[in-house]
Amino acid sequence: MSDYTQMWANLELDLQAHDVLLGVLGNAYKDIFLTQKNRPQGMQYFDFVMSEVHGLRIKELVDARKEGRIVVGSYCVFVPEELILAVNGVSVGLCAGAEFYYEGAETLLPRNTCALIKSAFGFKLGKACPYIEACDIVVGENTCDGKKKSYEILSDLVKNFHTIDLPQMKSDSGKKLLKEEYKQFIKKLEEVSGKKVTAESLKKGIAIVNAKRNAVLRLAKLRKADPVPISGLDALLVNQVFFYDDPVRFTDSVNKLCDELEDRVNNGIGVFPQGTKRLVVSGCPMAVPNWKVPWIIETSAATIVGEESCVGERGTQCLTEAKGNTVDELLDAIVERYFQIDCAIFTPNPTRLEHIQAMVKELKADGVIHYGLQFCQPYIIESHNVEESLEKDGIPTLRIETDYGQEDAGQLKTRIEAFIEMLGHK
Ligand code: SF4
Ligand code: SF4
Repeated sequence: MSDYTQMWANLELDLQAHDVLLGVLGNAYKDIFLTQKNRPQGMQYFDFVMSEVHGLRIKELVDARKEGRIVVGSYCVFVPEELILAVNGVSVGLCAGAEFYYEGAETLLPRNTCALIKSAFGFKLGKACPYIEACDIVVGENTCDGKKKSYEILSDLVKNFHTIDLPQMKSDSGKKLLKEEYKQFIKKLEEVSGKKVTAESLKKGIAIVNAKRNAVLRLAKLRKADPVPISGLDALLVNQVFFYDDPVRFTDSVNKLCDELEDRVNNGIGVFPQGTKRLVVSGCPMAVPNWKVPWIIETSAATIVGEESCVGERGTQCLTEAKGNTVDELLDAIVERYFQIDCAIFTPNPTRLEHIQAMVKELKADGVIHYGLQFCQPYIIESHNVEESLEKDGIPTLRIETDYGQEDAGQLKTRIEAFIEMLGHK
C-alpha cells in the first residue's frame, strides 16, 4: 500500500489510533478471509479493495472533490444513490461495523445503545473514519429511535448534516411523505453541488444503480447451487463493498466474479462439500468489518447461502423501473422502489416474513439464524414473529443477540454448532 499518511493528516484523522485500527483490521481480514479454501479468483479484486479501503478509495474521493464532485455519506439503504449520482456526486456508506472508541461514544449516548450507532459515534469522535471526514454532506434518516435521537447529536459533530424523515407505515400518506423528503434531499444536493437534477441525469443515475443491484442479485441466485460456488463470508464481503466502491467498477467486478461462479456451478465446483448444511442469516445489517457470526457459522460445518439484511437482499432486491420523462415521474419510480424496503422500523411488516420464507425455499436452506444486535428493539422484537412463522412452516430457526465484541464468540459457537447438529438429525 502506498503511503497515505499526509492524506490522512489532511483529513485530520488521529494517525496513531487509525494505525492501530488498520493493523487490527488487516490481521482479522487475513485470518478470516485469506485462510478460506477454494476461493474464486474473482475475489482478488475485493481483497484489493479491502486492502485499500482507507487508502486508494479515499484518495479517489479526495480527487473527486478536487474535480468539483460532492461526496455524500450515509448509514442507511433508504438514502437513494440514484439522486446523489444525478448531481454527479459520490455516495459512500459510513463506518459503523466495529467496536471503536466506545468510551467516547458513551459520553454522549447511553451504554444500552446498539453497536451500530455506538460504532458510528466512536469512529467520528475517535477520528478514525476517513470517509466521514471526506464528506460534503452526511445524511441521517429517521428510522429507529436510537438513530433518530443520536442524529440530533451527530448533526452538531459534522459540518453539513441532512436528515431524511421516513414513514413508519406502508400507507398512501407514508408514500407521500417519502416523496416529499426525497424532494428536500434533491434540493440539498443541488444546493451543495451547484448542479441541477435533470430527467437525463436521474435516468443515468437509475441505470447505474440498477446495474449494480442486478449484479449482486445475479450473485445471490448463483448461491442456489449445491455445492455452493462461493462462501457466505465472501458473498457478504461483496455486499459490504457495494457501499464503498465506485459503482460502475464494482458492477463490472461482480459480473466477472459471477461469470467464474457460473463456470463453477456448471462443473459442480464448490467451496464446501455437496450436502453441507445451508443457512439463511436474517436481521440487522452487518457493516464492514462485522464478520464474527458468518465466520463462526462457516467454521462450524455449515455455509450461509443468503442474507436477508440491508447488507444483502433487503437492500438490493428491487430495481427502479425508470418510467417517465420528467424528474417528478422518475422520482415517483424511485419512491415506489424504496417504499418496498421491509426494514423492521415499519409496522406492520409482513413482507419481510414473506421474503425470508421465499429465500429459504429458493436457496434450499436448511434453517435460519436470526441475527439481532443487542438493544436493537425493531429487529429483536420482530424476531419473535419471524421465529414463530418460520417454525410453523417447519423451518428451524435460531435467534441470537450479540454485539461487535469477541467476548461471546465461544458461547455463540456452542449454540450455533448445536443448531447445525440438530439440522443434521432432521
Ligand atoms: S435496517 Fe432499517 S435502518 Fe438499518 S439500514 Fe436497513 S433500512 Fe436503514
Ligand atoms: S441495528 Fe437496530 S437499533 Fe441499531 S441502528 Fe439499526 S435498527 Fe437501529
